[in-house]
Amino acid sequence: MGASTAYHLARLGITNVVLLERETALGTGSTGRNAGGVRHQFSHEGNVRLSMESIRLFEHFEDVVGTPIDFHPDGYLFLLSAPRHVEAFRAAVAMQRRLGIEVEWLDAEEAARRAPGLDAGGVVAATFCARDGICDPNGVTMGFAQAARRLGVEIRLETTVTGVRTSGDRVTAVETDRGVISTGAVVNAAGPWAASVGRMAGVPIPIEPLRRHIFLAQPPVNGGWERGGPHGAPAAPADRVMVIDFDSSFYFHREGAHLLFGMGDPEERPGFDTRVNWDVLEKIAPVAARRLPALADLAIASAWAGLYEMTPDAMPIIGPAGLDGLHVIAGFSGHGFQHAPAAGRIAADVIAGRDPNFDLRPYRLDRFAGATAGEANVV
Ligand SMILES: Cc1cc2nc3c(=O)[nH]c(=O)nc-3n(C[C@H](O)[C@H](O)[C@H](O)COP(=O)(O)OP(=O)(O)OC[C@H]3O[C@@H](n4cnc5c(N)ncnc54)[C@H](O)[C@@H]3O)c2cc1C
Repeated sequence: MGASTAYHLARLGITNVVLLERETALGTGSTGRNAGGVRHQFSHEGNVRLSMESIRLFEHFEDVVGTPIDFHPDGYLFLLSAPRHVEAFRAAVAMQRRLGIEVEWLDAEEAARRAPGLDAGGVVAATFCARDGICDPNGVTMGFAQAARRLGVEIRLETTVTGVRTSGDRVTAVETDRGVISTGAVVNAAGPWAASVGRMAGVPIPIEPLRRHIFLAQPPVNGGWERGGPHGAPAAPADRVMVIDFDSSFYFHREGAHLLFGMGDPEERPGFDTRVNWDVLEKIAPVAARRLPALADLAIASAWAGLYEMTPDAMPIIGPAGLDGLHVIAGFSGHGFQHAPAAGRIAADVIAGRDPNFDLRPYRLDRFAGATAGEANVV
């Protein structure tokens, strides 16, 4: 979010921008730990619009921004088993189609054909959007950052924000462990840590970190993914289609020689710990083996954990926040990598005083004072 916002500010000619990162490299927070999935299939219209704009850029990222991002538009396949989920998806797909997105309804047999190796038992219906896909989060982050730098943005690594100075209702400076930067505009793009940066300015930001795991499975010993299933059938799809068992939140896609998979753990509590908890694999294993039988004998090549940046309604906060000159772009609740292009463009427009041509009401910080209608398709 920080790199995208800086890039879009620079494109508007606002180049006296400093991007601050406390780590030795950009993209080692949530962005460096995600599954790289990008999809149009959200339940909230605003999020579909963020996807439409963002995926348009992903499709032409190298031409426009200058960096390859290994984009594979092999589709997202949502498997639905509970009638209430089918009902909710009916409304969401109708809205997505109204916006011009081609989303297909499939039965269990058609779903199994889209994803060889899949056991679609119990699946009542499925949805598929061929323009959804997978791309490289590091490529996107570095692409925005390098392009921003070329346009004049300064990037300071190993620089921790420690305070935000204010005068009356205005921000005046950012304090870091390497000195103070005077400024009239501060963007809080601290992802799962956004609440702590908010506290520095005296502005409560309701974002909680929630650990999520990703595992990489090795190919079956006999036959690999191509022929390692029963009777030499494929053990997993040959392409990178993202398959999501919506009822359990188990998902997988091919990742080079491996198969990437994950699933939410309802027992996980908010916290900043990103060590791998191997007990989570015990919970995933039976679901994984049921949906993709080749995973019954899984051997894990590697695993890592990262933080979802959860807001109470699973919608991000984008825009001005409590003080003159203070902005937030954070809280994307586990699906934000893909929204960085549009969200950064919108944040930059707002900071520049331009009309972002986007309804920001569902994204305002002050919505939490009342009732909110959030995103239901959190995976
Ligand atoms: C396991 C997992 C799978 C996911 N899968 C997907 C997916 O398939 N598709 C998708 O779209 N999204 C996915 N996400 C969500 C996605 O990764 C996040 O929504 C997105 O990366 C958030 O980006 P960000 O820039 O807001 O946060 P971050 O990438 O965390 O960036 C925040 C940065 O702020 C820095 N920072 C924090 N505090 C300070 C400070 N005081 N001073 C200086 N720097 C500071 C941090 O070091 C960090 O680099 C997934 C997340 C996880 C954990």
